[in-house]
Amino acid sequence: MRPCPICHSTSHQPLGTRTLQHAKLVWVHDDVLCLDCGMVYDRRDWIQAELDDYYMGNYECARNADYPAQLALLKRYAPADGIAHDVSIGSMGDSLYDVVNCYYVLEHLIDPAGLVREMVAHLKPNGVLIVEVPDFERCPEPALFPEHLQQFTSEHLALLLNNAGLFVVESINGLSRPFGICKVAMRRWGIQARYASAKTAYGAECATP
Ligand SMILES: [Zn+2]
Repeated sequence: MRPCPICHSTSHQPLGTRTLQHAKLVWVHDDVLCLDCGMVYDRRDWIQAELDDYYMGNYECARNADYPAQLALLKRYAPADGIAHDVSIGSMGDSLYDVVNCYYVLEHLIDPAGLVREMVAHLKPNGVLIVEVPDFERCPEPALFPEHLQQFTSEHLALLLNNAGLFVVESINGLSRPFGICKVAMRRWGIQARYASAKTAYGAECATP
């Protein structure tokens, strides 16, 4: 049984099953609420190869997003000579980026935390991650689309980012789709610097004999 994609707990309460025909596939969802963090997700053991087959075969990416709004946000956070990458375009390779964009991807994945960790690993020390997903709290209907394996709220998206060592610097309702929640997050790169200064302070106050 699939654990909670946010906190990995298996303690949950059933919400109900949904069977939906969409794009040549019957999507059978078995939705639950995580009793540890409150995330709503599908507990079915989805098979990655089946999803890969679906997305490689008949998937057509929706093209109704406000791309100028995405670009304007990117320009606010990327340095003038910066490098950005959008995960829906392809592999991140070996590069490090100033900004990684992830628009409407995490809700489709069996392991959204895995992709967030991978994106964090490709951020420069001052790098920024921009993520947008459907907001289940404000707009439940689009969040419950057949292809979505979990239903994010603003709080749960922030929790997922925090768990990966990021802190949220900006949160925007409906950035590029009216039903979306967008977060801009940065690495907690300052922790090592704080450790160094704390260590110095300890050294000054309690010198080891
Ligand atoms: Zn949970």
